[in-house]
Amino acid sequence: MITRMLSAQNSEDIALAAQWIREGKLVAIPTETVYGLAANGLDEQAVLRIFQAKGRPQDNPLILHIAQPQELRKLCKDIPASAWLLADNFWPGPLTMVLPAREIIPKSTTAGLDTVAVRCPKTAATRALIAMAGVPLAAPSANRSGKPSTTTAQHVLSDMDGRITAILDGGACEVGVESTIVDLTGDIPRLLRPGGVTPEELIALLGELQIDPAVLAPVAADAVVRAPGMKYRHYAPAAPLIIVTGSAQAAAFYIRAHFQRGDAVLCFEEELPLYQNCNPTSYGSCAAAQSLSSGLFAALRALDRPDIGTIYARCPEGGGMAYAVGNRLKKAAGFHIVNAEDAR
Ligand code: AMP
Ligand code: MG
Repeated sequence: MITRMLSAQNSEDIALAAQWIREGKLVAIPTETVYGLAANGLDEQAVLRIFQAKGRPQDNPLILHIAQPQELRKLCKDIPASAWLLADNFWPGPLTMVLPAREIIPKSTTAGLDTVAVRCPKTAATRALIAMAGVPLAAPSANRSGKPSTTTAQHVLSDMDGRITAILDGGACEVGVESTIVDLTGDIPRLLRPGGVTPEELIALLGELQIDPAVLAPVAADAVVRAPGMKYRHYAPAAPLIIVTGSAQAAAFYIRAHFQRGDAVLCFEEELPLYQNCNPTSYGSCAAAQSLSSGLFAALRALDRPDIGTIYARCPEGGGMAYAVGNRLKKAAGFHIVNAEDAR
């Protein structure tokens, strides 16, 4: 299969992508979070092709993407008032809600669950595509399963060339990490994955928010979790990644003492001078968590090389966007974290 590169600036290209979606084909789409690997979310066979192209375990459910918030009604039932409150405030945008699923949604999309995850993304070209296709798009991140997500059309091409029909190139993704996922099926809203909508923003609107344990710690392979996908290793470059916390000076002291030839350092722009001769890569400024989220996956992908031994990474702390960035890095590290202050 030859993978065609289409432009999100071109309305004929968007129409072509919509036609291919209706025919059951796979098209990668730009969103404000990361690139998605999209198919008609109501077509069982088309959805199964997503799992094949990604090498994704079939018990890991997909998110359905809609063009207009009101389309939530067609996909979900027993929608609580909190869902509409969130939709009014954050849609279109980087927020996914988990709600009871209607019967029209195939089991391959929900991985057999009776709930479904739904999002209305912000990117105008993608919403135009969904509206033209006339069906919700099932779309996980457009990377090979387990690898760092894709935030440019070039990233998608390097993982998916020859495996999918087309890529709609909409430039680099603004947020850079996947959507925030909130489960609204219990008594108290529960954060399943932090992202572009912050926990503080959710608490301000909802009053209370439980944080799912999988956000903060590793999940055992045999654990029963809300979303089966939460137990898989994610976002990981080939080399083991170790997060080193503590002050800039303490971390640099620890990393320089342990660094061996062939290792690499993933750090904040401000800390680059501390890692001369340690193969440093910056992913953004620690003074601007947004720059870290938009730079994280490109940096992890650049470090996904067989010749790298160990990657030592600096990770932002605290809430806001730093919370989402920290979650992705900790998952990429398999929660291997060293406190440089203790190690001194
Ligand atoms: P990805 O498509 O790679 O961004 O991953 C989608 C994630 O959405 C899954 O790994 C789940 O964590 C979550 N998800 C999708 N559907 C559901 C659902 N019905 N209930 C809970 N979580 C879900
Ligand atoms: Mg993913």
